Amino acid sequence: MPPIPKRGLNFDFSGKSIIVTGGNRGIGRAITEACAGAGARVAIIYRGSKDAVDVAKQISKENGVEVKAYQCDVSDAQLVQQTFKQINDEIGPVTGLVANAGVSVVKPALEMTKEDFDKVYTVNVLGVFNAAQAAARLWVDSKYQGGSMVIVSSMSSQIINRVGQGKPLNQVFYNSSKAAVSSLVKGLAAEWAQYDIRVNAVCPGYVDTDQTSGMEQSVREHQAGGVPLGRFAQPHEMAPQTLLLLSEHASYMTGQEYFVDG
Ligand code: NDP
Repeated sequence: MPPIPKRGLNFDFSGKSIIVTGGNRGIGRAITEACAGAGARVAIIYRGSKDAVDVAKQISKENGVEVKAYQCDVSDAQLVQQTFKQINDEIGPVTGLVANAGVSVVKPALEMTKEDFDKVYTVNVLGVFNAAQAAARLWVDSKYQGGSMVIVSSMSSQIINRVGQGKPLNQVFYNSSKAAVSSLVKGLAAEWAQYDIRVNAVCPGYVDTDQTSGMEQSVREHQAGGVPLGRFAQPHEMAPQTLLLLSEHASYMTGQEYFVDG
């Protein structure tokens, strides 16, 4: 396999300011790096990782653009509104959002609890909505036209993954939360088209991140074997489709899910 390029996406994002939730690690970090590499200022939203501020500083230094980290739990609507306003003042005006922060609970449905439901849905559905609403409010209030948001959903919005011998992966709340996101994307795209705001989803297949690092080797091999390209993705392979959707080149694309699943 030829090396997968990390840099060199030919987008010109100079003048853009983009918020990436969960932008300090995994897929979000790769998207942050690609946006900064294209010349955008980037605000990383993180929940609690100790090194998020240093990650932002490093990406900023490597790309010669402003990248700042903001601690904010996306499930707290009021805090999200405040933080987005602060970002807009400090490194804005914000032009794009990548609502990427997400979590999973893996256990049999017979053992799932209300706490598990809350853990997944308050981030994957409510957190995505909070971020989308806060960005849309900034744009509607300032009469900014052309805002684009990309929600990082999952192939799990459509597919129940198997771990071998016909057994499912046991993440019903994760799967159903991502299916909810599919509908959210379509609904928000329809409502906000009047403000020239576009809303789309990128649906990754398996990606090598902390979320998948705990997978047993046998399960991992089984999963990779089910992917036509025969492997998990690297995080930065989610960046090209995301940047395309954030860019003006995607001016007629809204309300869609784009699968990047090998
Ligand atoms: P990681 O587990 O590597 O990172 C999760 C990120 O989300 C972290 O930056 C974390 O911040 C942030 N986060 C979690 N909860 C909150 C919260 N309440 N408020 C603010 N930030 C929060 O995830 P991935 O990179 O693997 O996944 C990113 C997205 O892609 C998720 O939506 C996931 O569902 C989706 N996805 C992932 C796939 C995969 O195979 N990895 C496949 C398909 C979809 P902190 O570091 O501070 O905890």
